[in-house]
Amino acid sequence: MNHKRQKEIEQLAKNLLTETNCYSYPPIDVEEVARRKGIQIIRFDFGEEVSGVLITEKGTSIIGLNPENGHKRQRFTIAHELGHYILGHQRSGMFVDTPERYFTMFNFRNAASSTGELVQEREANAFAAALLMPLDLIQKVIDDLKDKIDIRSQTDESYEDDFLVKLANAFNVSTQAMGFRLSTLNKLW
Ligand SMILES: [Zn+2]
Repeated sequence: MNHKRQKEIEQLAKNLLTETNCYSYPPIDVEEVARRKGIQIIRFDFGEEVSGVLITEKGTSIIGLNPENGHKRQRFTIAHELGHYILGHQRSGMFVDTPERYFTMFNFRNAASSTGELVQEREANAFAAALLMPLDLIQKVIDDLKDKIDIRSQTDESYEDDFLVKLANAFNVSTQAMGFRLSTLNKLW
């Protein structure tokens, strides 16, 4: 994804948070964002193959979640489906997200792909990250954490791990998602 598109997606995510009045000190209440946008969330055991779906029919949208997934994973899935919704990837019908697709996006995010589907998945992930971990809020929490953690008492490595865990917990996201977010932000900051 180019820099311009990444910036656009950051802005769209922030717009959604302000529009729904959910831009506040983290963690972001992503279920509330969906609710205020008029999107119903249902939990249904789709089996291991599906982590989430976005169904749009006659102007009404529903996000389906797999309750077997962990809490943080469910939060990311809601944000990811909201990404498909806001970015207009789908007008009607059903959008099915499998864990495989999802994690492929994480692991091979830079792999060149010409298919529209991969582009949409990457964009939905970028949107989800921007929604759950807004730039300004990350900066704010980093500043707060720096005040609280005693740097001298730790080695560089344990300090970094500890910091990442604390930061991820503050936003109620996985350390994987936060680590990925920080590497993206290095290019944006
Ligand atoms: Zn998707």
